[in-house]
Amino acid sequence: MPEWPEYGDDEAKALLEVLNSGNWGSTSGDVVATFEREFAEYQEAGHAICLVNGTLAIAIALRAAGVGIGDEVIVPPYTFIATASAALFVGAVPVFADIDPDTHLLDPVATEAAVTERTKAVVVVHLAGRPADMDAFNALGARHGLTVIEDAAQAHGAAYKGRPVGAIGDVGTFSFQSSKNITAGEGGAVVTDDDKLASALYSLVNVGRVPGGGWYQHETVGYNLRLTEFQAAILRVQLRRHPRLQELRERNARLLTDLLSEVDGIQVAPEDPAITAHGRHLFMLRIPGGREAVLESLTAAGLTRVSPGYVPLHRNAAVLRDAKAITTRLGQPYPEANCPNADQVSTDTIWLPQTYLLGTEAQTQAIATAITATANAAD
Ligand SMILES: *Cc1c(COP(=O)(O)O)cnc(C)c1O
Repeated sequence: MPEWPEYGDDEAKALLEVLNSGNWGSTSGDVVATFEREFAEYQEAGHAICLVNGTLAIAIALRAAGVGIGDEVIVPPYTFIATASAALFVGAVPVFADIDPDTHLLDPVATEAAVTERTKAVVVVHLAGRPADMDAFNALGARHGLTVIEDAAQAHGAAYKGRPVGAIGDVGTFSFQSSKNITAGEGGAVVTDDDKLASALYSLVNVGRVPGGGWYQHETVGYNLRLTEFQAAILRVQLRRHPRLQELRERNARLLTDLLSEVDGIQVAPEDPAITAHGRHLFMLRIPGGREAVLESLTAAGLTRVSPGYVPLHRNAAVLRDAKAITTRLGQPYPEANCPNADQVSTDTIWLPQTYLLGTEAQTQAIATAITATANAAD
C-alpha cells in the first residue's frame, strides 16, 4: 500500500526556503500567516489560527468560548481521547452522550438529554471524516445557549450541505498530526467566523498578545502554542495535494462501500444526502461476531494498520478519575454515562486508515475480497 505522508520536491524546496530565510518562527516570518489565510479559505471560515496540535486546539476553543472550571462539556465517548481531555485541561467536566450506532457519530437526541444547567458547550466530532448533523447541533446550541465546537481533526475538506466543516458551528478544530489527511508531523488549527473568538484564540496561542499590539503587551494570560514556519511551509504544499488525494480516497471508499454493503454480516454507514463531501480519514465498518476473524486475516495479509478502533472514553479510568476529581472538589454531581451504543460498536467495529484508501482499484478490490471471504466464513 502507498506510504504516508506523500511528499516530494515541493516540500523540500519550501523547507529550504524557510531555512535559508532565517525566519524560522512566525513572529518574524509570514508562512504561518499565509497558510492560515489559505486554510481559512479552504474551509470557508472567516479566520484560521494555527497552533501546535489538535488537542490544544480543542482546549483553546473551549477557553476562548469562556468554558472553565466546573462547566460541563458534552462529548461523544467514541472518539480520540483528546476530545474529552481538552475539557479537563481547562478545568471543565466532560459529560458523555451516546452515539448513533449506524454512523458512530454523537447523537443529538442523547446530547440534549445530557444538558444540565452547568452545560456550556458541546464538542461534535466529525469522526472518520463524516460530518455530523450540524443543523441539529446548531439548533440545540441555540436552544440551550451552548457553544458548538466541531472537532474536525479527521475532516479536512469535508462538507455538510455544501458548507465545509469547521465554521458551521461556533468554532472548529483541526489536526495536522502524522496520521491526518493533511500533515506536517504535528500541528493544528482553529477556525471560526466570529471576530471576537478569533482574537481570543490568537491571544491564547500568542502569550496573551493582541493582534497588532505590542511585544510586551499581554492583555490576557495565554500560552505559547505557535506553529513553526517549517511546519507551515509543509502544510502549504500538503494543502495543495489534498484535493487530488481526496478524490482518490473518495473513489476507493465508494468502491469499498459498493462491494461491502450488500454482504451479510457487514454494516457500512448509510449514505446521507446532507454529506456533500466526506473527509475519508477512516473507512469504518461493523462486523458483529466476525470482527476478530477479519482483523486477523487482514493483518496476516499485510494490512497491519487495520484497527479494532477506540475503547469508549466513558470506560477510560484516567478520564473518569480527573473528571470526578473536579466534581468532587466543587461538590457537583458527576453525571454517570449511559452509552450502550458506544459499548456495542467498540466490540464489532474495524477501520481502515486513510492510507489504505490511496491504493489502486485492484488493491481496493482485494481488500474487499479479503474482508468478505473472512466475514462469510465467520458467519
Ligand atoms: C487526532 C485527533 C485529535 C487530536 O489531534 P492531535 O493533533 O493529535 O493533538 C483530536 N480529535 C480527534 C477526533 C482526532 O482524531
